[in-house]
Amino acid sequence: MKVSEIFYSIQGEGKRSGVPSFFIRANNCNLRCMFTSTNLCDTPYTSWTPDDEKNIGEMSVEQIIREYKRHKVRDVVITGGEPTIQAEELIFLCKELKSLNAYITIETNGTLFGDFVNYVDLLSISPKLSSSIPYNTKFEKMHTVNRINSEALIKFNELNQIGKFDIQWKFVFCNDNDIAEIKEIQDVAGFPDNKIYLMPEGINESDLNLRRSLTVEMCKKYGYNYTDRLHIIIWGGKRGV
Ligand code: SF4
Repeated sequence: MKVSEIFYSIQGEGKRSGVPSFFIRANNCNLRCMFTSTNLCDTPYTSWTPDDEKNIGEMSVEQIIREYKRHKVRDVVITGGEPTIQAEELIFLCKELKSLNAYITIETNGTLFGDFVNYVDLLSISPKLSSSIPYNTKFEKMHTVNRINSEALIKFNELNQIGKFDIQWKFVFCNDNDIAEIKEIQDVAGFPDNKIYLMPEGINESDLNLRRSLTVEMCKKYGYNYTDRLHIIIWGGKRGV
C-alpha cells in the first residue's frame, strides 16, 4: 500500500475529536485542492507532491498491522490523500483491522464508491466545494474534474440510513458561498443538517482564528455541527501528529 505516514495521536476533527487513534495516511489523491485563501490542503505532500522524500512509500498490510498492534488502541483512522483510490489494498487492510476488533474511520472526499463500505464504522465524507478548486496554476485543468460524484454520495447516505455504518459530512468552510453548494449536495444525497460538520479552512492557528467565529455563526444559523482542527491548534502544520 502506498503510505505517506503512520502515527499515533488524537483525532483532531469531527465527532470523534479527542479520541486516541492510530492514523494510516495513504499517499496520493485524485484531486488537488487550493482554497480561496490560496492555501493548499493541509496534507499537500500526499496530493500535490506525493513524491516528497519524507513520505514512507510502500508498506505491506502486515507491516501496518504490526505497527498498529504496538499502540494498543482501538480507533484507527484511514485517511489521506484519498485512501479509496487504493481499493484492493484498503479492503485487505480493513479486513485485517476488523479481525482485531478495530473501530475504523475512513476519511474520504467521497468521489469513489467501493466495497470498503462493508468494513467501515464511521465514514467521514468531505466533499470538496468549488472554493477548493485550484486556479492560476498548472493544475488549472482540475477545474474540469468532477469533484462531486452524486451517485456515490447517494449510495453512502442510503447505506447509513439502513444502519450499515455511522457517517459524518464534513465541509471545509471558507466563506458564505459554500453554504448554497452544501445545500445543493444535501438535496441530491439526502442527508440531514445534524450530520453536517463545518470546519474552518486553515493550515495554521491564525487561519483558524480568522474564520472560527464566522464558521460557528453559520453552524448556529443552519443547525450544523462545528468542528475545530485540534491537531493544527496543538501542533501547527507539523507532520505525523
Ligand atoms: S481531496 Fe483532500 S487530500 Fe486531496 S487535495 Fe483535496 S484536501 Fe488534499
